[in-house]
Amino acid sequence: MIFEHPSGPLSTLYWLANNHIWFWLASVGIFSLLVGSFLNVVIYRLPIILDPVKKKAAGTPFNLSKPASHCPKCKNKIKPWQNIPLFSWLVLGGKCFNCKLPIPWRYPLVELSTGAGSVIIAWLCGFTWLAVIGIMGYWLLLVALLIIYDTKSLE
Ligand SMILES: [Zn+2]
Repeated sequence: MIFEHPSGPLSTLYWLANNHIWFWLASVGIFSLLVGSFLNVVIYRLPIILDPVKKKAAGTPFNLSKPASHCPKCKNKIKPWQNIPLFSWLVLGGKCFNCKLPIPWRYPLVELSTGAGSVIIAWLCGFTWLAVIGIMGYWLLLVALLIIYDTKSLE
């Protein structure tokens, strides 16, 4: 036990995570899948945001939250139920709900890698700050490696 025991409503969550490894792993798993969904956005958009030429071509506003996620072909905005990590991709059969354009398998794969890798770190390190730091480092590494991979393959 490395965390300082909080009081109030967080106290129950702390107790569960500290006494039941499954609760800690499940919490990390669910949260990391959502983070994985966001990492897809970062991996795709950060190189564009950082490149003045590409950013200009992408139009304005263009940042990590705008424009809202949409299908590149039919411009259909991705609704919240179509944006649930892994689940939505499976339910939609890997296709846009509106125009059936295939959604690259890369998206669910990044979500799965983020979730699975984070759970493994949480399992190895237990309910500790080390786990939190390790998981965040793993997210950064994943983003960095995939951006490098993408930029290299485009050269
Ligand atoms: Zn579409």
